[in-house]
Amino acid sequence: MGSNPTPSAGSSIAMNASTTPDPAAAAAADEQWMRAALGEAQAAASHGDVPIGAVVVRDGPQGPVLVAARHNERELTGDPTAHAEVLALRDAAAVVGHWRLDDCTLYVTLEPCVMCAGALVNARIGRVVYAATDPKAGAVASLYEVCSDVRLNHRPPVTGGVLADECGALLRQFFVARR
Ligand SMILES: [Zn+2]
Repeated sequence: MGSNPTPSAGSSIAMNASTTPDPAAAAAADEQWMRAALGEAQAAASHGDVPIGAVVVRDGPQGPVLVAARHNERELTGDPTAHAEVLALRDAAAVVGHWRLDDCTLYVTLEPCVMCAGALVNARIGRVVYAATDPKAGAVASLYEVCSDVRLNHRPPVTGGVLADECGALLRQFFVARR
């Protein structure tokens, strides 16, 4: 061991390329998935629902795979729990085959509310990424910190502010148009 470092040096370079993406590449991937969530948000406005979208992405051997893409359907269905995140978690669990989603990341265009933050904890979600903050109802950073509360049994890493300007602008346009 160590007498011939050449083969291990070569293999460690290959391993670094596949297992530790650089921060810029990780940020670009987050933006790519958030853009998919933003597309879902735009679909919500077509039926009069507040434009919020969510996607769930699962880690796979070939890289991340989209397993759910939903948008807010509260007005469409008359269901108070039909937030984008809850609908996306249900679809993701159906695809994965069980309720535990610890190998999944949820991307959502607005900071989750208390209900959705609670659902994310109950799903043991692997990671949460949101776009715009919600000072009136946000429950992962603004009003409450449900996903990082040490009294609860699951604390997923949370990243905020990804495509925040675009996702926030879509919400503002919707409310301006509704006046
Ligand atoms: Zn919610």
